[in-house]
Amino acid sequence: MALSTPACGLCEVHAESTFRIEGMDCHEEVAILEKRLTRLPGVHGLAADVVGQRLHVKHDAARVGARAIAEAVSGTGMRAWLERDEATPPPSATSAWRRRLVVASGLAVAGAVVLQAAGGPPPLVVAAYLAAIVTGGVFTVRRALVAVRARSLDINALMTTAVAGAMVLGEWFEAATVVFLFALAQWLETRSLDRARRAIRALMDLAPAEARVARGGETVRVPIAQVAPGDRVLVGPGEKIPMDGVVAAGHSDVNQAPVTGESLPAPKAPGDPVFAGTINGAGALDVDVTRIAADSTIARIIHLVEQAQAQRAPAQAFVDRFARVYTPAVLVLALLVGVVPPLTLGEPFGDWVYRALVLLIIACPCALVISTPVSIVSALAAAARHGVLIKGGLHVERTAAVRCVAFDKTGTLTRGEVQLLDVIPVDGVTPAWLLATAASVERRSEHAIGRAIVRLADEAGAAARAVEGFRALPGRGAEADVEGTRVLVGSHRLFEERQLCTPAVHARAAAIEEAGRTVVLLAVDGRVVGLFGLADVVRPAARDTIELLRRHGVGRVVMLTGDAEGTARAVAREVGVDDCLAGLLPEEKVAAVEALKRRYGVTAMVGDGVNDAPALAAADVGVVMGAAGSDAAIETADVALMADELTKIPFALRLSRATVANIKTNIGLSIGIKAVFLSLAVAGAATLWMAVVADVGASLLVIGNGLRLLRTR
Ligand code: ADP
Ligand code: MG
Repeated sequence: MALSTPACGLCEVHAESTFRIEGMDCHEEVAILEKRLTRLPGVHGLAADVVGQRLHVKHDAARVGARAIAEAVSGTGMRAWLERDEATPPPSATSAWRRRLVVASGLAVAGAVVLQAAGGPPPLVVAAYLAAIVTGGVFTVRRALVAVRARSLDINALMTTAVAGAMVLGEWFEAATVVFLFALAQWLETRSLDRARRAIRALMDLAPAEARVARGGETVRVPIAQVAPGDRVLVGPGEKIPMDGVVAAGHSDVNQAPVTGESLPAPKAPGDPVFAGTINGAGALDVDVTRIAADSTIARIIHLVEQAQAQRAPAQAFVDRFARVYTPAVLVLALLVGVVPPLTLGEPFGDWVYRALVLLIIACPCALVISTPVSIVSALAAAARHGVLIKGGLHVERTAAVRCVAFDKTGTLTRGEVQLLDVIPVDGVTPAWLLATAASVERRSEHAIGRAIVRLADEAGAAARAVEGFRALPGRGAEADVEGTRVLVGSHRLFEERQLCTPAVHARAAAIEEAGRTVVLLAVDGRVVGLFGLADVVRPAARDTIELLRRHGVGRVVMLTGDAEGTARAVAREVGVDDCLAGLLPEEKVAAVEALKRRYGVTAMVGDGVNDAPALAAADVGVVMGAAGSDAAIETADVALMADELTKIPFALRLSRATVANIKTNIGLSIGIKAVFLSLAVAGAATLWMAVVADVGASLLVIGNGLRLLRTR
């Protein structure tokens, strides 16, 4: 039997994946697939639907992912596509059964002990111990068989062997207590891990099950699964918003904390996006649904967190490597201890075989294996509850190591809610025409400046015009055809590059920059017709955030911006960054991030997911702000802040540091306890039940310690 990494059987992320299988037409093929897939460690169950050519796989996502399963299928000549995968909590029916069995086992042990003490007939005592072993051991034996069939030695197999050995030696009390304690521990572990996972599911429960939908002049209650994009749902004061959508009518303040972690309610007016699961304030809102329930932002967050939890953290790789050596080594030691002293020194067999059995239990690296996942699962759940989506253990570890943070300016350090301070026509056009023309182009833009110009034009009541051929020029501006003329909007630098900037225009632009404002120029058919001077407001939390980052040991805080030097300096001074690099195009931001990494070590970049995507990807940790509305932003980020709250960045840093420290404590604890009991066992000073108590105790200690992270605030 080949030795593979023994797993706890508990530290699993249960997942169920459905594949479409091309080439699975008859039962022989199902048999082939079964043979192939059950050999994969971590695959627990298969159900094939030959007619629908679907294969439903239950697996431990922490050990075998959907891709590995698909690859194994292609090894048989068939092809598999993933249709759907969901991490699911283990069914509660089994957990109820387990509880009953654990209780039965405990009662049987107690009964046996009392019977023995009262001098009851030995066969009856043994029968009571046997009852404890059978009730407490069914799950363990079943899992042990699965493991052995998959040619791996897991904790269940080791426990089963140890208990069988104890029974052979006639150590009934020991055998029964080991079984009972182990079953109890497993049940407790599953429950506490479920608690961590449920912390995420609990977010989901926040969305109501039904929505009030306006249909054909009347209002009907409809289950949210039947509400489609385009439907209009009505949300009364104090109600939860059932679906993602856009406000069609009404004004209110919405508590978005469940999705974004924001502490303050967000004002909502027609046109603003709202999210399922958030809580409406005093006003009534009519919401036009934009996504089906399964695609809502909160559903996506939950899905992503569950995926992230299934990913192995780098610390886990260390643990796996350690366990791969540790377990076989202890098994070899057990074999030597059980055989060598009796054969060479003439010692009694029973005594040394007993010590070997104790070693078998100590060989289970249960607490060690669980030490990393439990911390990561708790940390990711705690983060999500604060509106911070961390994409996996790897990113937690990297965030904990951050030494340098680079911020984008517009929309990140500043609000991106630009005020229009100067409108300067150059060529006989009116200011109103200038604004309306710029807004026509910017209507398609996702840039903060673009959105601001549109807002300002709307406020001024400018009429929309026909626009074609829009093109964003990242870090520079945008262009489009407006009613047959080519319109270009963008930065001073863009206009210099295109040689559209006359000395007179340049002088005006420079004057606006001097005042610390952002300049946007506008050209029609290659002729500059006007300039805008825009002022952005620095986020009130920016200064404190940067201060907090420094206090958390970030040595260098830098601002990267595509804006002009003068404007950038003014903002840099206001927020208190160490350095500021201005006039950067997107690719130059990438180079700047690379340089920061070389110079200061692990570097995080904070920006918006659309405009700053390349620099975010170049950084060790890409942090996106205000991601709640944008799938692209959530996708791009390593760490996505659902709200526009800068203070979540020091929070993410603190949480990551705490998590890494927590993992280290856990690994240290579990290895330390093992080391102590290993020496005690060889010396003959440890009994079977003590070894189990130590193992169970270590696991529970590690879990308890990991779960503490759930309460991080
Ligand atoms: P930041 O790094 O401050 O976020 P960007 O790199 O996004 O800035 O943009 C740099 C400059 O390019 C802006 O200051 C602005 O002058 C110009 N710009 C970019 N996009 C647009 C747009 N859609 N409309 C007008 N100007 C734009
Ligand atoms: Mg920006």
